[in-house]
Amino acid sequence: MRVITDFHSHSRFSRACSPQLTIPNLDMWGRIKGVNLLSVADFTHPVWIKECEAMLIPDGDSGFYYYKDALDPKVFARMAAESDVSVPHSALPTRFMFTTELSFIYKRHDKVRRVHNVVLAPHLAAVKQLNNELNRREFNLKSDGRPILGMSCRDFLEMAKTIDERIEVIPAHVWTPWFAIFGSKSGYDSVEECYGDMSEYIFALETGLSSDPAMNYRVSALDKYILVSNSDFHSLPNLGREANVMEFDEHAITYDELIRILKEKDTNKFKYTIEFFPHEGRYHFDGHRDCNVVMEPRETIKHKGLCPVCNKPLTIGVDYRVEELADRDPGYIVPNRPSDIKLVELDKIIAQAMGGKGRKSKTVMHAYWHMIQSLGSELSILLDSDIAALQAAAPHPNIAEGIRRMRAGELQIQPGYDGVYGEIAIFSQEEIERSKPRQTSLF
Ligand SMILES: [Zn+2]
Ligand SMILES: [Zn+2]
Repeated sequence: MRVITDFHSHSRFSRACSPQLTIPNLDMWGRIKGVNLLSVADFTHPVWIKECEAMLIPDGDSGFYYYKDALDPKVFARMAAESDVSVPHSALPTRFMFTTELSFIYKRHDKVRRVHNVVLAPHLAAVKQLNNELNRREFNLKSDGRPILGMSCRDFLEMAKTIDERIEVIPAHVWTPWFAIFGSKSGYDSVEECYGDMSEYIFALETGLSSDPAMNYRVSALDKYILVSNSDFHSLPNLGREANVMEFDEHAITYDELIRILKEKDTNKFKYTIEFFPHEGRYHFDGHRDCNVVMEPRETIKHKGLCPVCNKPLTIGVDYRVEELADRDPGYIVPNRPSDIKLVELDKIIAQAMGGKGRKSKTVMHAYWHMIQSLGSELSILLDSDIAALQAAAPHPNIAEGIRRMRAGELQIQPGYDGVYGEIAIFSQEEIERSKPRQTSLF
């Protein structure tokens, strides 16, 4: 059966994250989005891990868990009725796995390195052992769900493998400038430089919102890694905006099978990743947010990397860093890898289809919940729905056309830079004007 996984996210205990990020809401929104296997996130946080322990029950010895109150359909129906969201009728309970993001800040070869890693644990007991060891070393795990550890990525990996060899580490959003293994302001030029003699344990890289697999394929040194995509959401509506689509045998949905699929690059099972259009990511191009300056790499080189407004170094984005490390021209595809599908979130499509309204406006949200309730999860609408059927069922005919254009890549994007998201235009300004509700005429 198809299992869509999103294993990098946050709880309400991480900085700048929504207070709505609770276990019951995560279960509910997994169903709404169609993400079947979701991270509990932030598992080093002492309060959050206690909540997880109290609310989750293991799915046999698979290494995955369920929110226990949501397993009873009657109890779940009551919770859904009391909430302000709609859940697809056919939705199954969301599976949870113990993964978390850790921030490593340390000096190496006279340079400060800041690297984020996603850590995957095979079960709750391993999480507790890892947390005990981090506490013994007196790291502050309380202040943030994504704590800062003053140790090297290499030393952490060695420590984790000593605690439990089934704990795995995946470098997070590898190209982003400030906190990533290849980041322009923070990182290294290769996996080996970062993890040293422990590099053999690294088997996957997370591409992040600002890069897609094709960009990564330009660096031949990365061919040996499988590329994964996760949403890194800080609020519920962003859940599943990037994800991994896999096939599992119904009776073998387990942590070990997930890791096997990744390590063996099993493309019979790992079908494709769900991607942002990379231009939409917050660090695609170079620039300065405060100076309102955005540049593509060629222009940045012309300006010697300096901002024409404030004369300070620009924040170098993902496109530039890929170009720096690339040894292949654009267009090369590594054989035998999962493919990728680029999506735009449904509320963004509805907003444009219905006359350029805000994503969170009443009209848009009303249409969104109507579609979720009558047609199924957001990802099943975006990935699987038949356009003609959608034409009949969606609250506005432009929505089906918007989804068709998204699938065909017929859209314009103003690239993101220096922390500013890119902007997607699926409809022209003229089309948006035309689809606005008409004002009643006096004549
Ligand atoms: Zn991060
Ligand atoms: Zn500037």
